Amino acid sequence: MHVNYDPQISYECVQCGRSCFNRWDIGVEDSVAQALKGHQLELRVIQERGQAFRQGDDGQRIIYKDSDHPRCGFLKEDLLCSIHSDLGFEAKPLTCQQYPYVFVQTPDRQIHASAVYSCTAVREEIGPTLQESRESIEDLIRRGARVHRLDGNIEVLPPFETSYAEIQAYEAELNRKLGEMPISAAFEEAILGLANAISSLGQPDQESVLLEEGLLASSWGRAKLVPAAARSQLQLIKTILSMGLLKPCLPSQDREVWQKIDAAVLGDADLEIPDFNWHAPLSELDLWINEGVGHRFDAQIKRFQSSLLFRKAHLTMGGLLPGLMLVWIMPTVIRLLTGLHAWMEQNEPGLNNFLWGLETAETHLVGHTFDTVPVYQRAAWQAVSISRAYQL
Ligand code: SF4
Repeated sequence: MHVNYDPQISYECVQCGRSCFNRWDIGVEDSVAQALKGHQLELRVIQERGQAFRQGDDGQRIIYKDSDHPRCGFLKEDLLCSIHSDLGFEAKPLTCQQYPYVFVQTPDRQIHASAVYSCTAVREEIGPTLQESRESIEDLIRRGARVHRLDGNIEVLPPFETSYAEIQAYEAELNRKLGEMPISAAFEEAILGLANAISSLGQPDQESVLLEEGLLASSWGRAKLVPAAARSQLQLIKTILSMGLLKPCLPSQDREVWQKIDAAVLGDADLEIPDFNWHAPLSELDLWINEGVGHRFDAQIKRFQSSLLFRKAHLTMGGLLPGLMLVWIMPTVIRLLTGLHAWMEQNEPGLNNFLWGLETAETHLVGHTFDTVPVYQRAAWQAVSISRAYQL
């Protein structure tokens, strides 16, 4: 087994219990359910909420949660896991043992080990590096932890795909650019060039289309020639995408609020977001973010973006172009969430607001709470559409 460890990540559980409050589904293996059957831990949960487990949409057994009981039933009042305390670490569902690690295996059989920023310890860089925890991480993988496997060709923007060798060469050039220019400029060059290259291919009529060799590499040359007008249209996509991504992050999930956000972005209505007590024109929000949040958290956001690239979020979230859009938009969304959270708390944006924004963005926009892949893919097609008008 060849495992690469994300150098950005430090982790040791601080037992805050926050991850056990999330609404994501937690799969429960037969062996775990069997060990808990009739145990006082399971009986207590059944007494409290009627059942301990239920069947998920895919037929798999999952931990039972509902709107009255959104947190894991096995979490104790002291925020410790009762299964872990009473029966030991390995008695927990594998998902819980694996959290917050994520593993992606690329077609060259290398495993890339990283961790998610919805975890407090990861966000706050508490604990040893992943490399230092390699023994327990490799043990987890050997015991069947979930590994996202990328096999064969890689999606660029469905139905277009390419070989992994092309992707590797593309990543090398992207990393070179990230090292020599501002991150947002490097991503914009990548997105505009790739969108322009795809727009030159015409409308696909097959389920999968293998891109000709060298097309990805040639997109960098195209990026340099893209006119300023296309660049400013990409900024418009950035505004629409970031405000669209705000919606799954709202605590209330009120669809009426979603419509009000659209009215403010696409029309000239004031922006109204009761979740954050915000009611003012969009331009005032821009001002509040630019002046209040500014670039104070850029180093931490850059670390998050590097981790996203390390764990191949640009390949696993609907294709290369949608994935690039995800990593590109994160600073804008996190600054937006930071500013709104500070506004709600009636204070100047500070570290706590930023950490909340980072946690929220990871949980809802990269994690599995919502399926945001179609949003990134739509934005990628919008970039392709604007490129058609500026075909090189
Ligand atoms: S969020 Fe992270 S630090 Fe907190 S309990 Fe979960 S794994 Fe531990």
